Amino acid sequence: MADVFIALGGNVGDVRANFEKAIANICGMTQATLVARSSDYATPPWGDEEQVRFINACIEIETSLDPHALLFALHKIEKKFGRDRANEKRWGPRTLDLDIIAYNDVKLDKPELTLPHPRLFERPFVLVPLSEIAPDRVIAGQTPRQALARLPTAGIEKLAPLH
Ligand code: ADP
Ligand code: MG
Repeated sequence: MADVFIALGGNVGDVRANFEKAIANICGMTQATLVARSSDYATPPWGDEEQVRFINACIEIETSLDPHALLFALHKIEKKFGRDRANEKRWGPRTLDLDIIAYNDVKLDKPELTLPHPRLFERPFVLVPLSEIAPDRVIAGQTPRQALARLPTAGIEKLAPLH
């Protein structure tokens, strides 16, 4: 079984409700068990700042799928929740973005799949929820807690549970 961290994000539609359904789908489609789930966070938009704020969260799962099969399943789930990669701007509005942050200690450097996620250490909106569930997990030589200490986190707001 592999220990995997996945980042969830979105800013179109009922994002928090979609996260719940997407997490159930991830576990169902990847034969995974959910080990941990962070709170949801409201975060300022990144890259393209002329858009509404995002909701972000991170989960940890145990899965027997290999990294590429897992990414394929995540892309299917993104599509199921209305994501249309062909017609969106890079870093623009999206219903659901599912990124593999880390897969055990696997290192991969392909355009379609880079592990650990190449932009992890510059993204407070991933590091804040990741630090909630795995502050001391070493990823590419550093921990989420250490990485976060170097970044601004202004505007990131932890949201109360839905129920
Ligand atoms: P981003 O997640 O950076 O905001 P996208 O979701 O549009 O951008 O992803 C762009 C491409 O990144 C996808 O086609 C995917 O194949 C590739 N990719 C590379 N590494 C990863 C990873 N670790 N997790 C998810 N996607 C990845
Ligand atoms: Mg993505």
